[in-house]
Amino acid sequence: MNSRVHQGHFARKRFGQNFLHDDYIIKNIVATIQPKADQALVEIGPGLAALTMPVSEYVDHLTVIEIDRDLASRLIENPYLNNKLTVIEKDALAFDFNELSKQLGKPLRVFGNLPYNISTPLIFHLFEYANIIMDMHFMLQKEVVTRLVAAPNSKDYGRLSVMAQYYCHIIPVLEVPPTSFKPAPKVDSAVVKLIPYKEKPYFVKDIKILSRVTTEAFNQRRKTIRNSLGNMFTVKQITELNIDPTLRAENLTVEQYCQLANAWI
Ligand code: SAM
Repeated sequence: MNSRVHQGHFARKRFGQNFLHDDYIIKNIVATIQPKADQALVEIGPGLAALTMPVSEYVDHLTVIEIDRDLASRLIENPYLNNKLTVIEKDALAFDFNELSKQLGKPLRVFGNLPYNISTPLIFHLFEYANIIMDMHFMLQKEVVTRLVAAPNSKDYGRLSVMAQYYCHIIPVLEVPPTSFKPAPKVDSAVVKLIPYKEKPYFVKDIKILSRVTTEAFNQRRKTIRNSLGNMFTVKQITELNIDPTLRAENLTVEQYCQLANAWI
């Protein structure tokens, strides 16, 4: 049988479709999520319902966001799911999670085996809604989980690490081999839990400035920050924060990025 066909569906590469078919991994993910009856669970990319089905057993209602029209129709017609499920046939990247949280009257618990081609922009999109999200559980490329939790002074530490660690407490949960999916992806995967801070460890006056500082620094990560951040700060301003201007982007802590963002005028 064609390796791209699973349960009669031809996996679409452009939607990053790699379907989970490993019961042990699925059980583990659901046990980590610990869905509770009255919570507002939201799944991104339910696909053929590998996670949707077991999660739905614990809750009264579940919202799913699926871009693929064929998969959305299958979910709507699924007799075991249709009385519990709200299927939103939309692009999660453009979805307003605030509106959904308002409608449900609760903070959201977001989860999904994310399409790898859009996982990083999707995570950044979700950070914009961090204040109405209780937690997130995602299957990602292992390399992305490594970057999410990376500490300064490592090659994996980048803009994603700084922004993710500013918003969330991050816990790697489980590593998953390619054989757990159909079709098997070329890379290893991992499950991660992200819990947005209620009280953030570091104060930032304007998140757009933190976003700009990290973009400028890491876009030229091999340069010293006196050069890469030269458009935003003088050497004197950097030194006054007790930050060495000869450091490179990967040497600065999350706290130091927050200090720089607050010092920008
Ligand atoms: N949850 C299923 C599983 O674990 O087997 C499918 C996971 S598959 C890696 C990713 C899913 O996300 C697919 O169902 C795909 O159609 C959907 N998807 C891709 N891009 C999307 C987007 N921008 N918005 C919503 N869903 C998307």
